[in-house]
Amino acid sequence: MICKSNIPYTSARNLITPKMDAMALDFCIEMEKRQVLCVPIPVNESQWDEHTGRWRSIVSQKHAAQAAGLGSIGRNSLLVTPEFGSMVWLGAVLCEQELEPDEMKRPLCDNCNLCVEACPVNALENPEMNQQSCWDYAFGTDEETQAWRIACHKCRDVCPYQLGSQRSFLSERFFELS
Ligand code: SF4
Ligand code: SF4
Repeated sequence: MICKSNIPYTSARNLITPKMDAMALDFCIEMEKRQVLCVPIPVNESQWDEHTGRWRSIVSQKHAAQAAGLGSIGRNSLLVTPEFGSMVWLGAVLCEQELEPDEMKRPLCDNCNLCVEACPVNALENPEMNQQSCWDYAFGTDEETQAWRIACHKCRDVCPYQLGSQRSFLSERFFELS
């Protein structure tokens, strides 16, 4: 891993989220100008889930992205795309217009199990991820600083397809530095 601190990762995630929401809204406004009704789906926390006791999105954006041909969901439960690996943040728009999806992507995940073995709380040991264990461990307020942090992304870090299957500038630098 290049960066040992979880602050930049958390900060990037917190900054990208409102950006994605703004892009979804802008898209809806543009579509309305073209007489197509659209609804922006908030990236995070749009409805309270009594089952898990947490906020969650009203649409599984990973599954929508997979069906739309952007990538495939790996064993680590993340969307893995050929271009950017799992280093993507998703937004969604519901639209009344029927759209032709791209072809679904061939899965990159080859079940190497590195993510399963790396998880400190065994949240990935079963085919259905134990979200509660992950959330309890990976997300929350740092005791020392009292700031909300993403404390774990090991299942992303260890994946050979973290940065996709195409050798990009980013992946070349990552492998040089790690
Ligand atoms: S983020 Fe951490 S705790 Fe959650 S599944 Fe991945 S490795 Fe496990
Ligand atoms: S680490 Fe291996 S098993 Fe896990 S998502 Fe990546 S390729 Fe799949």
